[in-house]
Amino acid sequence: MMHELWPFLKLYRHQAGRLSLGMLLAFITLAASVSLLALSGWFITATAIAGLSFATAQSFNFFTPGAGVRGFSILRTAGRYFDRLVSHDATFRLLAWLRTWFYYRLLPFSAGELSIWRKGELLNRLVADIDALDQLYLRLLSPIFVAFLATLTLGALLAVFNADIAVLIGTVLMVLLIVTPFVVYQTSRKPGEAMAHQQSEMRTRLLDYLGGQAELLIFDAEQRYRDELRHKERELLQSQEKMAWYAGLSQAMLMLAAGATVLLVMYLAAEAVHKNYIDGPVMTLMVLGTLAAFEAFHMLPGAFRFLGYTRTSARRLHEVVKTPSRIVFPDEEHSLPDISQGSVTLDNIWFRYPNGLEDTVKGLSLQVEPGEHVAILGRTGCGKSTLYRLLTRDWDPDRGVIKIDSHLLESYNEVQLRQGMRVVPQRVHVFEGTLRDNLKIGDPDASDGKLYQLLKDLELSHMAHSPQDLLNIWLGAGGVRLSGGEARRLGIARALLQPAPLLLLDEPTEGLDTVTANRVMQGILKAAEGRTLLLITHRRTALEHMDRIVRMDAGKLL
Ligand code: ATP
Ligand code: MG
Repeated sequence: MMHELWPFLKLYRHQAGRLSLGMLLAFITLAASVSLLALSGWFITATAIAGLSFATAQSFNFFTPGAGVRGFSILRTAGRYFDRLVSHDATFRLLAWLRTWFYYRLLPFSAGELSIWRKGELLNRLVADIDALDQLYLRLLSPIFVAFLATLTLGALLAVFNADIAVLIGTVLMVLLIVTPFVVYQTSRKPGEAMAHQQSEMRTRLLDYLGGQAELLIFDAEQRYRDELRHKERELLQSQEKMAWYAGLSQAMLMLAAGATVLLVMYLAAEAVHKNYIDGPVMTLMVLGTLAAFEAFHMLPGAFRFLGYTRTSARRLHEVVKTPSRIVFPDEEHSLPDISQGSVTLDNIWFRYPNGLEDTVKGLSLQVEPGEHVAILGRTGCGKSTLYRLLTRDWDPDRGVIKIDSHLLESYNEVQLRQGMRVVPQRVHVFEGTLRDNLKIGDPDASDGKLYQLLKDLELSHMAHSPQDLLNIWLGAGGVRLSGGEARRLGIARALLQPAPLLLLDEPTEGLDTVTANRVMQGILKAAEGRTLLLITHRRTALEHMDRIVRMDAGKLL
């Protein structure tokens, strides 16, 4: 069990000072609370007894215990306030730190590696699972620690007056301290774990449902999808209900235990009074002190109730963190000259997707000279886009060598690679913003004039009457304002704004009619003059100006 939580517990050292202070304050609060009740009990009883005769009433010292009662109650209030303040502050700091830490773990992953996790799934881990970890301190460590100290303190207090009672009650509390967590954890482990999974599934599904609204409506599948969602929700609610039920049950059991223990103390103390080992007021002190000490125990079930949930979250976070990124870029320092020629060598490349049944690329070799314009032509599904992903290092090949400018692809640092190679992926992402915003991703310093010229070259200038209106067109979420072919040309424009020595385009003319495709190709060729161009496509149209056309089939070149 601990091996899942340990990596996260270790992270607590980042807030060790604040967390320890929080526990200390929690303990001070509890000690004040026990002392307050014990002293009050003693005081009231002693006053009553003293009042029985005039002489004792005259000599009775009201002031010291009175001041004690006031002191302890102030200490308790202040202690509780600062305990909450300090421990919540520490927890929030820790969560903020954990989130950044987790995010930094995600950064090294390439786009390919990240695509293995669904987006909603990652978001869920970043938000809900990390939130669950705050239970670890606030509900687990701190309460155990405080309950343990409470047992010791009460034992010591009782021992001042009667050792036998102290040992017996101390033992009872220790047993409770061990048994309660165990029982609570065992009973609520299953629903807790289920809750973690159900919650994440629910969230992923919901995001999917919201994102796919248009499709679901058209296929009349919305109702089915929503029913499924509702079903998932019901399962989650059931788990939550079970958890709540166990919570009530464990609280009830604990109250029963508290009542029984107090009765036991009362019985033992009464006997001790009877035998004159202790006097009456001390008996009240013992009973009320024990009652107050149980306050520390009421937090325990909560902690262990959520342990299953917290563990599952910890495991899910760990799953992401422990997966090493296989695609590693070298550091900035020991790197090569920048890409300047744009020659590409692929030598006997083999690649299989982690979840793939068979190799997608099977011994592919290709040599592209600097400045050469090469088209890679092949049927759908033959691995063309996979080749694109290997060249952009979304994935690394299992075997074989890729070189650019006669240096290994993996020896370039990320900045060099991205600046030396401009790409257009098969699926262009359009950001929510204006056309200008979207283009400037390719070159933040480009002037409006340059942007407009490029849009004209790519047949995109028809959407508005003036250049300013054109660049200010709001494209909406996911580029709903654009047709499929327009979005693709936007992607091309982005890549051509700052053409690099090497241009890599995946299906740039897909979805365009022949006339437009030819014009777009002319725009591409104009920008690619003097640069290396690798063009992936399954269409033969508009390829007449290429230097070479190679055919790809089933993961190899023919
Ligand atoms: P198209 O012309 O339709 O774009 P393509 O030649 O670009 O096709 P790829 O996208 O390279 O084809 O896919 C090649 C094969 O690899 C396909 O059979 C596809 O199912 C598989 N594939 C692609 N991406 C993944 C992935 N992430 N995991 C597993 N298999 C994948
Ligand atoms: Mg493709």
